[in-house]
Amino acid sequence: MINSDESWFGQFSKPLIIAGPCSAETEKQMLITAEGIAEIKVDFFRAGIWKPRTKPNSFEGVGAQGLKWLQRVKDDFGLKTATEVATAEHARLALEHDVDLLWIGARTTVNPFQVQEIAEALQDTDKIVMVKNPVNPDLDLWMGAFERMAGQGIKKLAAIHRGFSIYKKIRFRNEPQWQIPLDFKKEFPLIPLICDPSHITGNRNWIDEVAQEAMNFGFDGLMVETHPNPNAAWSDAEQQVTPEQLKNILQNLILRDADDIDKEYQMLLSSLRHQIDEIDRNMLEMLANRMKVAEEIGALKKSHNVALFQPDRWAIIKSLMLKNAYKYGLSQEFIERFLNAVHQESIQVQNKIMEQNQNSL
Ligand code: PEP
Ligand code: MN
Repeated sequence: MINSDESWFGQFSKPLIIAGPCSAETEKQMLITAEGIAEIKVDFFRAGIWKPRTKPNSFEGVGAQGLKWLQRVKDDFGLKTATEVATAEHARLALEHDVDLLWIGARTTVNPFQVQEIAEALQDTDKIVMVKNPVNPDLDLWMGAFERMAGQGIKKLAAIHRGFSIYKKIRFRNEPQWQIPLDFKKEFPLIPLICDPSHITGNRNWIDEVAQEAMNFGFDGLMVETHPNPNAAWSDAEQQVTPEQLKNILQNLILRDADDIDKEYQMLLSSLRHQIDEIDRNMLEMLANRMKVAEEIGALKKSHNVALFQPDRWAIIKSLMLKNAYKYGLSQEFIERFLNAVHQESIQVQNKIMEQNQNSL
């Protein structure tokens, strides 16, 4: 247990909403976004000023000048503001410019030295400080960052789940592992939990689905990247939504009472869906490999002047697969349809190879 004060959260209605662009790009872009957002129930306007990018030579943020733009958003639209701080210097500058909410990004949470320095720069602040989970699924590291904050007298805290980085992307940019924020909640039951479906999905089409999932798990709020013209955004273009789309997402959310939430069921469902996504991805990879082999067979047949369709070979494949289908409890009719589709595509792939060779002769 740490010495935190969650009463700040009481002045907001659930879910708490943080929205705004991934990055501050220009003052105009900030003001247009703020205008769109001010009409929706949004509690904090977010914008990244200093951007931790995976690769160099991409847009790394406008720097401290963006803090003035955030101040204008607050003055002109009455919105509370939020930005990411990755160093003690960022933290000092953000405090100087009266940013209301400061968050520590996933790439910073992994580094205890940096987290400690930021905590010291924010000592005894009455600003809200949120900590994103580290990029790797390490609950202790995440909790450690909160202990460092609380150790410096920072009391208004919240945790943000933004998913975890994995080597081979299955579906999402950063896979959510709901068990981890829920275990966090067991350790720090009073600290509000926010979900960031933008960085979890990496794709604006799935934000509603993950936001709903977060509500089903009893999360207290959402952080959603919002941009007036998402496709033209200087960072994270695919995952940003317009203020209008955000409005729809929020309107369609089904909110549940804490007592109604069956976390076991949600977790099982989420894990089963995860398995289906992985199996589908493997299936596609195997089909692609099969087609590559078919291409090689096509080239071989061509060079040996052999007919493309070999009925005897096809009859053998089919009877073998139908026997196996029976063994695995799969319907013969389904497997027959599936095999025919695969075979047809395979013939087409081989045919293309034959034609290509002919054209090049
Ligand atoms: C962000 O919120 O723009 C960001 C960089 O997120 P994360 O730290 O989750 O990658
Ligand atoms: Mn982003």
